[in-house]
Amino acid sequence: MSLSLSAEQPDEPADADDGVWLECIECGETFAPFDDVRYTCDECDGLLEVRYAELPTFDDFEGHGVWRYADALPFAEGVSIQEGATPLYEVPRLEESIGVETLRIKHEGMNPTGSFKDRGMTVGVRVAKELGVGRLACASTGNTSAALAAYGSRGGMETLVLLPAGKVAAGKIAQASLHGARILEVDGNFDACLDIVQELAAKGEAYLLNSLNPFRLEGQKTIGLEILEGFLADYDAVPDRIVLPVGNAGNTSALYKAFRELVQAGELDEDDVPKLTGVQAEGAAPMVEAIENGADEVRRWDDVETRATAIRIGNPVNAPKALPGIRETGGTAVAVSDEEITEAQRDIAGEGIGVEPASAASIAGLRKLRAEGVVDDDERVACLTTGHLLKDPDAAAAAGSEPEPVPADTAGVLASIASERSSE
Ligand SMILES: *Cc1c(COP(=O)(O)O)cnc(C)c1O
Ligand SMILES: [Zn+2]
Repeated sequence: MSLSLSAEQPDEPADADDGVWLECIECGETFAPFDDVRYTCDECDGLLEVRYAELPTFDDFEGHGVWRYADALPFAEGVSIQEGATPLYEVPRLEESIGVETLRIKHEGMNPTGSFKDRGMTVGVRVAKELGVGRLACASTGNTSAALAAYGSRGGMETLVLLPAGKVAAGKIAQASLHGARILEVDGNFDACLDIVQELAAKGEAYLLNSLNPFRLEGQKTIGLEILEGFLADYDAVPDRIVLPVGNAGNTSALYKAFRELVQAGELDEDDVPKLTGVQAEGAAPMVEAIENGADEVRRWDDVETRATAIRIGNPVNAPKALPGIRETGGTAVAVSDEEITEAQRDIAGEGIGVEPASAASIAGLRKLRAEGVVDDDERVACLTTGHLLKDPDAAAAAGSEPEPVPADTAGVLASIASERSSE
């Protein structure tokens, strides 16, 4: 099976272009990568993955950011705004209170537009240029639209974004707007937006840059490569576990692919691959349901709700790639409540790190799994925080404390300071 950790490196097919090709994860059909626009398999509609005739070792990586990993990507450079190379923060108080041996926070909110989506777009927009397409499009819970708008404008291309009306955080719409995307607010949820934009793409109206696009996931592999390099440098070992929020499960799929390729290249022992651990909000948890039931497929949830709007998704398109990733690495998936998410957002803010609600889900999930004993106290863990606090200023303000009105004189300010701080 092509998605197993022990899969052999495949032989290069005749339709490969410079050692790069696309392969269907369901039927194994191969396709030339840049001759035609294609998102899924012509034969069976299965998801596609990018394959390489040669896989890099750690020694092949040089430089800074996403393009440090060019040897693991389809191109040597992309349409770049200096994405990647995000911090891997130590969080001693959180580590202590959750109770694991080591906890590091990989803060993807420190990317140019404030989320990991930039890593996918720097590659995806480069591919769009190769294909010679005109308009770029995506459905989005917000961050994909911000990244698409920024990278599209960087590449000098037209961008179109479909958003679920009333369900996108303010910072994200502001970004898409200022970077010049045409913004269509759909009277429906994210999954409805994605259905529509897939149909637009099939009609040739636009080039689709959702995570269904296999090239975007190539860029997102670099999150995993950076975490591994960071842990190897600091502890001489890769993490036991990586905990991440799950929406469309693109990152889960991308990290798993990065690890599979390292195993194939002989750079990582199969037994050392970090356990991929997905976290969803209780109101949008189809992946958790599938993992708990041992199901091979995810059941689409038509009604989804959570404060963590970035992961308010009921039909995770990358589930066929991500479910094997969670299972083969010995990971798991867990759902957390909105209250637990907000609590975790405050906890991590208490370490000076500002994240949006979806990102805090990873911390909330780790805390829960540790309390349940699923995660051991001797584990070295990396938590992925996917987006910046300023993406969703309303959620941050609601989770934080209220400003206190005071008179414009020192005596009045002193009196206020001396009184009890009003509660949140
Ligand atoms: C897109 C996004 C997610 C979901 O990531 P997937 O790869 O689709 O699972 C999580 N958090 C934030 C902040 C996002 O923008
Ligand atoms: Zn197929």
